[in-house]
Order: sequence, then C-alpha cells, then structure tokens
Amino acid sequence: RKLVGKLSTGCEEFNEMMGGGIESQSITEMYGEFGCGKTQVAHQLAVNVQLPPEQGGLGGSVVIIDTENTFRPERITQMVKGLSEKHGVEYDPEEFLKNIHVARAYNSNHQILLVDSASELANELKDSDMPVRLLIVDSLTAHFRAEYIGRGTLADRQQKLNKHLHDIQRFGDLFNSCVVVTNQVMSKPDAFFGDPTKPIGGHILGHTATFRLYIRKSKGDKRIVKLIDSPNLPDGEAIMSITTDGLSD
Ligand code: ADP
Ligand code: MG
Repeated sequence: RKLVGKLSTGCEEFNEMMGGGIESQSITEMYGEFGCGKTQVAHQLAVNVQLPPEQGGLGGSVVIIDTENTFRPERITQMVKGLSEKHGVEYDPEEFLKNIHVARAYNSNHQILLVDSASELANELKDSDMPVRLLIVDSLTAHFRAEYIGRGTLADRQQKLNKHLHDIQRFGDLFNSCVVVTNQVMSKPDAFFGDPTKPIGGHILGHTATFRLYIRKSKGDKRIVKLIDSPNLPDGEAIMSITTDGLSD
C-alpha cells in the first residue's frame, strides 16, 4: 500500500475535520440537496489537486466523469484567479484546464465504461509529471436514479451501482488517487425511493464510501459540511464559504 495522500479543500476547518484533507485510496461521498455546493467542491478539488504537496495539492491531474453536464471551465478560471491572489503567484488558468480531463456520461452504462477509459488514461500518465491523482464522479447516482424506476428494479440498480463503486475504489488503490463522488438527496418525499433524506444507494454506498460528507446551506455563501460515520475519524462539522474565488474558510 502506497502512502495515503491528503488533498486540501481550500477550507481549513474542512481539512481539519478530514484529518488533513481528502484522502487518496478512498472514496469520499458528498451528498446533499440540489444547489448545496457539491459540484463547486468538485471544481475546487480539480484545481487544488494540481498544486504541489507543500501547497495542499497532490501534484497531479484529474479525471471528471460529468453526468449532469455541470462542469464549467469558466468556473475553473475564476478559482485559479482566486488562488493566484491567495498565493501571490500568477497562475495560468489554461495550464490548469489542460490537466482536467472531462468525460460526459450519457447513461449509467456509459458512466461505468468511462471508469475503464479513466484507467487507461491514468496508466498513460502514470510516469508523467502529472499523474492522475483525483477521480470525480459528479453525479454518481443521477443516471441510476433516472433509469431504474420502481421497486422491481431496485435490486438490479443496487448491484450495478455496487460494481461501479468497486471499480472506482480499485482505481483509487491502483493509482493512489482520491475518488470523490456526489449523490443528491431530495428535500421532499419521493414516491419511489422511501426515506427522502437518505441518499440513494442505501447501505451499500454507506459501507463502500469511506468518508461520507453531508453538505447543507447556511447563511449567505456559508455551507455546513458534516462528516458522518467515518471508520477512523470522529464525526464533525465544518463551515466553509463558496465565493467567486472558490472555497474558503
Ligand atoms: P450541487 O452540485 O450540490 O447541486 P452546486 O455545486 O452547483 O450545487 O452549487 C451551486 C451554488 O454554488 C450556487 O447556488 C451558488 O451559491 C454557488 N456558486 C456557483 N457558482 C458560483 C460563483 N461563480 N461564485 C460564487 N458562488 C457560486
Ligand atoms: Mg451538481
């Protein structure tokens, strides 16, 4: 087993709650309602991972499996500008964008196949100066939720999701990469999926995701991030801000 890397979120409290940052070789699941900031955190991590370890990064590149078409290069540019101000260094947003490999997933089968493509790319970049150190699946569950409707298909869906999770866990282990997945929860009762406050994927995701983060809105640009049932860290809460410059304390 390689030494576990820690990726900074850009928010001190958040990092401390995670024991230093988002860990490599583990799956971190972010769940919460629409608009709570899951995709924003994903964008920030895609920037931060490229920094050297002294600056909270892992000196690597990132693969984003984008299932909802919510990746925005302009948002990366804003965050890189924010980082330039913070560090007093003139970073080039284009250089950062080059190391963000985005693949659109059109359905759940395609999403599963894209993990293989991600592995191929990670193999190619393994000995380069920008090895893949972060895999993002945003959203992990949206296609599964849309395609498997009704009670009869729940077992099928769960089985496929389970295999998918094992594939991405393997990716994390193989490439010493962080794996961050998002999972939307509903604010109102959902006719098909029982308890609306629990993320879909149920207990399987519960067991596979090593770090589960529940994000919810607070005042203004503030968000509350809650770490739940970690195997090696105490439950905790952190407050972060989402600003034009990106995530901060
Ligand atoms: P989720 O993926 O959880 O559905 P998002 O990550 O898309 O939610 O979060 C959307 C929220 O992020 C917006 O409501 C806004 O508060 C914040 N946000 C998005 N873009 C910016 C920006 N450029 N500057 C500041 N805040 C932003
Ligand atoms: Mg999103």
